[in-house]
Amino acid sequence: MAALQRLAVMDTAPEEPFENVVALVRTVLSVPIAAVSLLDADRQWFKARSGVDASQTPRDISFCTHAIAQRDPLIVPDATKDLRFADNPFVIGDPSIRSYAGVPLRTPDGYNIGSLCAIDTQARDFSPAEIAILDKFARIVVDELELRRIAGRDQLTGVLTRRGFIQSAEHEIERFRRYDRPASLAMLDIDRFKSINDTYGHPSGDVVLRQVAMVLDTVKRPNDVLGRLGGEEFAMLMPETDQDAALAASDRFREAIASARIESLCGAQLDVTASFGVASLGPATVDAEAWLASADAPLYAAKRGGRNRCMAAGFNATA
Ligand code: GH3
Ligand code: MG
Ligand code: MG
Repeated sequence: MAALQRLAVMDTAPEEPFENVVALVRTVLSVPIAAVSLLDADRQWFKARSGVDASQTPRDISFCTHAIAQRDPLIVPDATKDLRFADNPFVIGDPSIRSYAGVPLRTPDGYNIGSLCAIDTQARDFSPAEIAILDKFARIVVDELELRRIAGRDQLTGVLTRRGFIQSAEHEIERFRRYDRPASLAMLDIDRFKSINDTYGHPSGDVVLRQVAMVLDTVKRPNDVLGRLGGEEFAMLMPETDQDAALAASDRFREAIASARIESLCGAQLDVTASFGVASLGPATVDAEAWLASADAPLYAAKRGGRNRCMAAGFNATA
């Protein structure tokens, strides 16, 4: 369960790599049904499926729950002659499963979280070559899941990527709509960063990015969420924080960066500052991208106002 949780994949939208794999499994193994099935406590949910309508089923009647109990592929040539499945609702009724081949999806740390399966409505055998192919595809599925997970974290700074940040922001928007809980975000852009790169070199610029991320990570509240949107632009998500409080918090972030001792790789003391734009959630915030965009104008105003300052939507300046 924990291994599955780490992947943060349950109930996410269809994604191309997984769609491609199930399409290939159908074609290469000549089966009418193929799926990437993931198992949590009480259901199997399909990350990708082809030839089956339901997006999920109860776990206890799934074939997959048997597949993940073993290391080797589970092969059922004729479900009507298999005691485990002869009275299974998917065998007796729709979609009339007759044969099944499922390879467990095993995470690098050794946990089976689901299966890649090929299903036929005819009794049939699966050749060793076909199982070997299914096994290779299962590895591709696991690799894709891992890549998805890793891409949520920025390699340079270890904070969330833009994509990871957007996901968290969408979650806050959901909470705002459902429970009317306030939230704000601050977008920040390092001042005159280009000149740091130009003077001390790109690798020193990278050090500055890491240091700024570290400073922000140290001074933020545990519930605040930090992301690197790209380049030298970061964003801080502040749940349960209205605009005034977010502006005050941003000013602490600004001050922490300005007073941090940051050195270039050759040991030169660097004066690093950043400008902030703050925006709170409102009924008009349609999605996370729009929310970020609403912090853009105050950020731009902070730059024009002289940098190393915070502005909120509505343009109340601090510092
Ligand atoms: P301003 O105060 O107006 O924000 O000035 P600036 O120089 O920070 O603005 P600009 O957007 O022109 O420069 C951003 C620079 O950031 C340009 C780009 O080469 C550099 N940059 C983007 N990503 C990275 C990175 O990953 N590492 C390093 N070292 N530099 C990066
Ligand atoms: Mg910039
Ligand atoms: Mg900049």
